[in-house]
Amino acid sequence: MVIKIGVLELQGGYALHHKLLKKIGLSSLSVKSSNDLKQSDGLIIPGGESTTLSLLMKKYNLRESIIQFAKHNPVLGTCAGLILMSKDVDDARVEPLGLFDLSVSRNAYGSQIHSSKKRIYFQHKQTEQIELYSTFIRAPKIKYFGENIKIVAKRKNFPVAIFTKHLLGLSFHPEIDGIEIFHKMMFDKTSKFYYEN
Ligand code: GLN
Repeated sequence: MVIKIGVLELQGGYALHHKLLKKIGLSSLSVKSSNDLKQSDGLIIPGGESTTLSLLMKKYNLRESIIQFAKHNPVLGTCAGLILMSKDVDDARVEPLGLFDLSVSRNAYGSQIHSSKKRIYFQHKQTEQIELYSTFIRAPKIKYFGENIKIVAKRKNFPVAIFTKHLLGLSFHPEIDGIEIFHKMMFDKTSKFYYEN
């Protein structure tokens, strides 16, 4: 059976996720409804505008389906995606899905004009640290995270990528930089980066 990764296409930067999945040899499909989600083996919640995404998820009845889907399937959220996966956001207009025991601050890395590529360190299996440069665009800061959450990447000692069970949330945009590690970690069982529980 071919693995198909769904990319949420309500708003935001979904196109580059399809491109990156293709590059690592995985099929993807567009998710705009609960029915699309049923065809998916994993889900990407892309960056965009978390306020808008929050409204659209409600409008298209996707909230509950995503919450249920995330109980047993891999989900990767980038930037606004991370905000939506959290439990608590410092903006009442966003209704997060609560997939992670996590508290975030929207736009805490600065406004659009402060967008830049920043150095981060990816921690692979306790021993290997990989230096990467990835793009932060009005990126969220992780203010609090629960006990079972593992830090996968750091910037200046602050978590910028966190993981638990089969859920991964990133403050930044690896799809913009063509960084494959995080997508492989979640969806490519043949990769040395693939997560093991
Ligand atoms: N900070 C933005 C928001 O709150 C997210 C920015 C992004 O996804 N690049 O939605």
